[in-house]
Parts: sequence; structure tokens; C-alpha cells
Amino acid sequence: MPAPTDGFGYPDGALFYRRLDRRFPMAVAASGCWITDAAGRRYLDAAGGALVASVGHGREEIAREVAQAIASLGYVNGTQFSNPWAEQLAEQLAAVLPGDLRYCYFLASGSEAVEAAVKLARQVWVERARPGKWKVISRLPSYHGNTLTALSLSGREHYRRIYGPLLTDFPRVAAPDSYRDPDGPRSTGELLAAEIERQDPETVAAVLLEPIGGSSSGAVVPARAYFERVAEACRRHDVLLIADEVLCGLGRTGRWLAAQHFDLVPDVAVLGKGLNGGALPLSALAVRAGLVETLARGSGAFVHAQTYSHTPAICAAGLATLRILKREGLVERAAALEGRFFAALDRLRASRLVGDVRGKGLLAAVELVADRQTRAPFPRSARMAERLTALAFERGLIVWPNVGHVDGNEGDIVMLGPPLTVGEAEIDEIATRLGAALAALERG
Ligand code: PLP
Repeated sequence: MPAPTDGFGYPDGALFYRRLDRRFPMAVAASGCWITDAAGRRYLDAAGGALVASVGHGREEIAREVAQAIASLGYVNGTQFSNPWAEQLAEQLAAVLPGDLRYCYFLASGSEAVEAAVKLARQVWVERARPGKWKVISRLPSYHGNTLTALSLSGREHYRRIYGPLLTDFPRVAAPDSYRDPDGPRSTGELLAAEIERQDPETVAAVLLEPIGGSSSGAVVPARAYFERVAEACRRHDVLLIADEVLCGLGRTGRWLAAQHFDLVPDVAVLGKGLNGGALPLSALAVRAGLVETLARGSGAFVHAQTYSHTPAICAAGLATLRILKREGLVERAAALEGRFFAALDRLRASRLVGDVRGKGLLAAVELVADRQTRAPFPRSARMAERLTALAFERGLIVWPNVGHVDGNEGDIVMLGPPLTVGEAEIDEIATRLGAALAALERG
């Protein structure tokens, strides 16, 4: 392996880098909220990578549990055997989730779990003798993953643009917008409820939504009335509600599910990121008992075969992560730190570039605008979110950028979602470093 002084990047080595137009420092160690590179530089990880490392980096307990699963069992297939890690993880996960989200099905990435949830909704309606129900209504903006059906359901236009011919045309309606349109039909739930009727409810299998916005909308927290309206429309029209909690679930917003802030129990909750401790790809569907009962009484199986579902080692990563979340009270900690976190971030409003700071628990978005009066976004060509992210990185701070949420093209956000173990001094340091990056961006 080459040892360049200016980092690693194309065309050196044989790695197909995630970006071919920049160089990457080599990460060699991480602990808690900090990542160290080969040159000894330390980075404060205010985004948990991609909102993943909820229990903090470098957790030996997860490594031990995974190693034990591999050493004592290795791979067994879920069509032939059960295994202790999958059983225990399912039981312990179901125990912390609300309502009768009683059965857990394990997969690897968030994208495939979203696709599995959509297939499950379809299969349930077929087995309930309602074969006309197949459409899934999702929202704009939104993000549900990068495989083709998950991308079809996502409202993130710059990821979709060149893949148009490969995507399925699902109905998508405007998502709630607490900053630009807090009282309009998109934010009251009226638009989504009306779309179910407009599509003909007998063709609609499910609604798919992030209860609290992820990076796509930038941590938008809808009003409780939004979910009352949407849940009522789903009930009335026999439409399943799938909550994509891949980013906002598992304690990130201060509850096990973000849906709990609204007393909402979805038919299926999709979990990912925070479930795996960043160790191994692990995602899950948590499914209401009635849906599984339909399959049990009907065909006898969910028609969805993937090699790594229920795999011992990846479930072991989840089991150890869940144990840490519970033992260290990290979900409650995220709720308790919310005030401190947002008090620190609110100081960033002193920058003329900052239009909004919003979120819940330890999930936040800082939105940049060209004009604070009109809330007009910057032109895309200004690449404000990318530039702020790079300036923060230069200052040893990791944030997660997103663009295009305003109209599919414009809109600049940086997301913050530090490990739930973050300390108060680290929260202040995040705000200080981001403030310095904003000041540098203002200077141009
Ligand atoms: N759903 C949401 C809300 C996400 O934020 C993501 C990833 O960022 C996904 C689904 C897709 O998960 P993955 O990248 O693990 O496939």
C-alpha cells in the first residue's frame, strides 16, 4: 500500500474510492466521539460517520460478541436453523419497541430493509385477498436508500437523475416543512391523506415515511396533528404505515422510535444505522403481530430470501449494541442532552448564513440560506453545504452534508448526530468548531 503524505485517492492503489476528485486521510483508530488518522490528527465525529456510531467508536464489547458468534458458530442459514443471537436480539428489541411491533426480521443494510418492508406490505395485501393494493406513497424530500426500489421511493433528486429509466414511478407528495411552510397542507397531513384518496385506496398498499426527517429534509419534526391525520387516513383506507426509522430510530431523537414522540405505532418500523454499533451491516424490520399472523395463516413464509438475513455474527453486533444502549441509558441520555445540544447550536444563528437550526434529541440540522428574511436558498453552484463540510473537516470536525431539499436542486444542510455518549464539553466543542467553519465560509 502506498504511503502518501497528502492522503489516499484516485488513481493510487486499487481502491475504487467513494469520491475520485479528492484525497482521504487514513483512519487508524477511533474511540468515543474521536477518530485519529495516520498522521496523528484527531477529528471530533459530530455525525457518527453517517449517523451510525450511536454507541461511540471502538466498542470492544461489540467486537467480543461478534468474535464469539463467529468462533463458536459462524454462518448458518435462516431457512435451516435459528441461532441464539438472532433469537435474543429479536426478543430484546421487541421488548423496547412500542405496541405490538412483536416480530423482528434481520437484514444487512437500510436500503434492503426498506425494500423488504415494501414487499412485505404487498404480500400481506395479496394474502388478505386485496391484490389490487401495490402502490406505496412516499414523500419529497425523503431518503430511503440507494437500491433501485428504495431510490424510487426516495425524494432525493440528485441521486435519481441519471437512473430515471431504471426507477419505478411511485406517488410522492411534499413532506412536512417546519421552516418554510409549517401550516400548509404538506405539514398538516392533508396532502398525504388526500393523495391516498386520489390514487384510489384500493390500489394503495402502504405509506412510507421518516417520522422525524433524516438528512433529506434536515431533521424536520412534524406537528403531532400531522401524524393524527395521516394515521387516521391509513386506518380508514386499509393502508399500512411503514416508518423508516433507519436514521431517526434507536434512541437518536431521545425515544426508541421517533414515532413514539407522536404516540404513533407503525405497522412496520425499519431500523438500521444505530442498531449495529457501526460494526457490521445490520438492519431490521419490526413488524406488528397481525401482519405476521396473516402470512402464518396463509402461505407460511415471507417471500424474501437473502443470504445474510438472521446471520449470527451480525445479530451479535446488534445484541451487544442494544445491551450498551440499555445499560448506559443512552436513549434517555439523548433526550436529557437535547436542551444542552440545541442551546450550543443556537449560538450558530449569529452567522448570517444560518437560516434554521432544528431537530430532536441528538439529531440536528443547520440550514444555510442566502436570505434569512425570505428563506431563499443559495444557488446550487455555490456548493455551500459541501464547502462548510470541508471547512469543518479542516478544523477536525465531521458533519454530514445534504443538498437539494428545498426544490430537488437547491437547499444546503449540514446534519449533526454525534454518538449518544457525547459529553457536554464535546457538545460545546462541536458548536465552537462549526462556528469557526461558518465564519470561514462567510469570509469566502
Ligand atoms: N433510510 C434512511 C432514513 C436513511 O437515512 C438511509 C441511509 O442513510 C437508508 C434508509 C438507507 O440505508 P443504507 O445506506 O444502510 O442502505
